[in-house]
Amino acid sequence: MCTMRDRAILHSDANCFYASVETVLNPDFRGQAIAVCGSPEERHGIVLAKSEKAKRAGVKTGMANWQAKQCCRDLIIVPPQYDYYLKFSKLLHGIYRRYTDQVEPFGMDECWLDVTYSPGDPMEIAEEIRQAVKDELGLTVSIGVSFNKVFAKLGSDYKKPDAITQISKEHFKEIVWPLPCSDLLYCGNATTAKLGSMGVRTIGGIALLPVDVMQRKFGKNGVALWKYANGLDDSRVAHQDFTAPAKSVGHGITCVADLENMDEARKVIFALSLDIGYKLRYMNLRATGVQLYVRDSELSFCSWQKRLEMATQDEGTIALAAYSLLEEKYSWHNPIRSITVTATQLDSSQNPTQLSMLLDYERLVRREKLNESIDTIRDRYGKYAVIPALVLDEKKMPVGNDREIIMPGYMYQ
Ligand SMILES: [Mg+2]
Repeated sequence: MCTMRDRAILHSDANCFYASVETVLNPDFRGQAIAVCGSPEERHGIVLAKSEKAKRAGVKTGMANWQAKQCCRDLIIVPPQYDYYLKFSKLLHGIYRRYTDQVEPFGMDECWLDVTYSPGDPMEIAEEIRQAVKDELGLTVSIGVSFNKVFAKLGSDYKKPDAITQISKEHFKEIVWPLPCSDLLYCGNATTAKLGSMGVRTIGGIALLPVDVMQRKFGKNGVALWKYANGLDDSRVAHQDFTAPAKSVGHGITCVADLENMDEARKVIFALSLDIGYKLRYMNLRATGVQLYVRDSELSFCSWQKRLEMATQDEGTIALAAYSLLEEKYSWHNPIRSITVTATQLDSSQNPTQLSMLLDYERLVRREKLNESIDTIRDRYGKYAVIPALVLDEKKMPVGNDREIIMPGYMYQ
């Protein structure tokens, strides 16, 4: 009889990645409290990343610059240099690829590696990687070593910076089960809160529930979480050449000044949707869902979604859906600090369309033709060559502070 050998998966996470790269580029920053911030001059710039020292002083990601300064008076604020972060990210991948070609990035600073068939002991490989990253790049990583991806990721969070944690089949219950539910990958705030209301506060609590309770309360995701908690995650580490198809296309910004009313919010929503429509058409995708994410001036956030009547690539349709969500759901208790619009439930625009009897199909075809012509102009003269008049006088949209968010499929395995 042949038994399957246990897999050996590493998850390597570069510690305080942006801030650490800044320190390598400017050694004067070593040991200082630094924060990489969206737009340093503006009052409303927010912290994107911080160094270990800034973190200890209470600086948090997402804080406004002025709040961060209040926590830490000698905080050094620097603007992001994405080109360099990308360069260091590639150098990290280069080190990982010495051990395996199954290297799957998760964001810019994290990767899974499958070293099951690599020569050498997984813990020794992890140790070599940790040392090489330090010697060659001047960065530190924390690495989780386990028999599945979810626990490897958990291991890299368990002890940091500059540390290695092994979570084995024999010991995972002792290490993983006492941890809070929110430490489990894909267990978001809403799920954590709902689990809390059921009296379940730890990963072990999830594992010990009957699986059909998880199914009933959370559907498919509940079953997935239950499997993860029990160490039954069998998802594979993608090959380095594999690029996951996009599962959602989103665009978000933090506004220069808070948005006070629907009229101001409408302009921002339409401006964000412009880019989404263009990208969907560029990637030959269309969306049947729209999600709106809003963070208010108190930094609390909410998000809502809705299904569209028909799959679309049209920014106007996406913007209207997002706008109507805001109109229906947002109470305007506080002004709005940042908004993200995301097109979800994507499929190929080559697939046949299910037509609804209720829709004006001719109008849709005219709209598609118009969008095609506008794209041609934008390809030639830049993305702001044609924009709706509505967006023109928007002064609260910062230039160059917007975020492009394309979520690859592997986020949703
Ligand atoms: Mg990191």
